[in-house]
Amino acid sequence: MQKYRLFNTTELKASGWLRKQLEVQANSLSGNLDKVWPDIRESRWIGGNWDGWERVPYWLDGFIPLAYLLDDEDKIARAKKYIDAIVAGQCEDGWLCPCTVEERAKYDMWALYLIDKVLMLYYDCSGDERIPEVVYKSLKNLKDHIEQYPIFAWAHARWFECLLPIFQIYDMYKEEWLLDLAKLLRAQGMKYEEIYGDWKYKEPINQWLWESHVVNQGMAIKEGGLASLLDGEADDSFSEFMLNQLFTYHGTAVGHFTGDECLSGDSPIQGTELCGVTEAMFSYEVLYAITGNPIWADRLEKLAFNALPATISPDMWSHQYDQLVNQVACVNLAGGNNIFRTNSTESHLFGLEPNFGCCTANFNQGWPKFAMSTFMKSDDGIVSAAIAPAKLTTVIGGVNVAVESETLYPFGSSVNYIVTADGECDFTLSLRIPACAASAKVDGEDAEPGTIVTLKRVWNGTSVVKLEMDFDVKYVSRPRDMFVIERGPLVYSLAIGEEWSKLEYVRNNVERKFPYCDWEIRPTTDWQFAFAKGDIAVSETGAVSDMPFDTACPPITLDVPVVPVNWGWKEGYNMIANMVPDSVKPEGDVRTMKFIPYGSTTLRLTEIPFAAE
Ligand SMILES: [Zn+2]
Repeated sequence: MQKYRLFNTTELKASGWLRKQLEVQANSLSGNLDKVWPDIRESRWIGGNWDGWERVPYWLDGFIPLAYLLDDEDKIARAKKYIDAIVAGQCEDGWLCPCTVEERAKYDMWALYLIDKVLMLYYDCSGDERIPEVVYKSLKNLKDHIEQYPIFAWAHARWFECLLPIFQIYDMYKEEWLLDLAKLLRAQGMKYEEIYGDWKYKEPINQWLWESHVVNQGMAIKEGGLASLLDGEADDSFSEFMLNQLFTYHGTAVGHFTGDECLSGDSPIQGTELCGVTEAMFSYEVLYAITGNPIWADRLEKLAFNALPATISPDMWSHQYDQLVNQVACVNLAGGNNIFRTNSTESHLFGLEPNFGCCTANFNQGWPKFAMSTFMKSDDGIVSAAIAPAKLTTVIGGVNVAVESETLYPFGSSVNYIVTADGECDFTLSLRIPACAASAKVDGEDAEPGTIVTLKRVWNGTSVVKLEMDFDVKYVSRPRDMFVIERGPLVYSLAIGEEWSKLEYVRNNVERKFPYCDWEIRPTTDWQFAFAKGDIAVSETGAVSDMPFDTACPPITLDVPVVPVNWGWKEGYNMIANMVPDSVKPEGDVRTMKFIPYGSTTLRLTEIPFAAE
């Protein structure tokens, strides 16, 4: 049994800075992709000639909840246009994907798992009663199809993704063949338990492999948890084991793992693909809902507040394929060596579809799904899951109940939970206390970070529950005698002055034109520093701007003592910093420099050693 359920987008809305973030997304590339990008605008899914596989489902997976969370009528209508075309395109026998009968045997069924997941999300958002039958018929057709043509390629590596719509349809129809389909997919699909039981990918290899592909790993973190539901009790032990392996050998300073685009080691100058970030976030959301284990929500917040915003421009018009933890320039590497193991030399440029377009379609789910994970439904009440400003309006035992989380977190350290009940209502409000807090109090009583505090009460009228946290500034140790500064849920980086150069062009009939153009970014200030001993001062503005992760006005900054050192470019590479400085001998006086949240940076130095005494 799954521990928690999601609320729908009628009940749950973002507020405060999180709503601003969704508005930024709605007004930028994500909210306009169906106007500017042929793979969406002229997709085979809607009768065109462009991509008829994963790109429309990926985009809808974010665009649909975005439209409904903001009650944006225009976007809801545009989403419905796609859904109507997809529903109308279903064949008599249930086949749903846009290809001819002759093409079916070679069609990679990964896109079906995705579109079925998206259709069920659309059903939750819209209540459109056509949807369950469409998904039911497509799953029945999938069972017949894979009995004849076993799954291969992406459908093989990502078989467990189909468990999401299967479980939802099973909850409605209670027909055993759905569980048989799930078991058939497991039998045909990739065996992560075997791969991780005898793991060959501790060292990065310069070879593209399904088994070490970063997005496959990001998705597969939830495989163990999801598959356990087929056997009975929810169990996330394999998911935890898998994540420990990934972090031990390929972990980064911002709570993720590298992959450019297969697992790439723990170096701060290797890349991490954006799809890997959004898919790991979704895996953590699913695992938290399945198990209620708070480690998954802590992992989710770390990515949402750091790696996700860092790899998308503050205005959300451009993004990278690969982000680097120490990223002091983003220029094409052509003409020199390529740092990325199997990605192109422009993978870290900000743009429309640097390297490849999967992330252009798939980054859209990041913020909307995160917003949908702020509150979850438990058997006995309501759970505050990922912490951010949001408002839930629901009915418990016939009584209208609202819970609002009023907070600047992660830019602030307190949360007011405003609970309103229209009459006497007996339920439990469960508050997750982030593990990153040094200490915490709920209504003045000590609460242990990393645990869940349960408040079982008869609520009536309006009550306020206050969560207060303390965050320590700390230097966290990294390989090669490097360190990273963390405070609470945020990682901090040296902010580097930036010069953005616009690249407008047409390639393969896809236009890059401002504001959906590409950018190279060069540093305009020194970045060659090591940490020096001394106190770090914290400054908070107490406000979040309309672009919450704007490089120009971060809500929190740190003044950090540093000293210049000799730190050069990596030889043979175009503007890639060396993995470590050439020397940690001080080359000047100690000074303080501004450090800002990693998520607010585009250029940055994050993993830094201490200077020699
Ligand atoms: Zn991608």
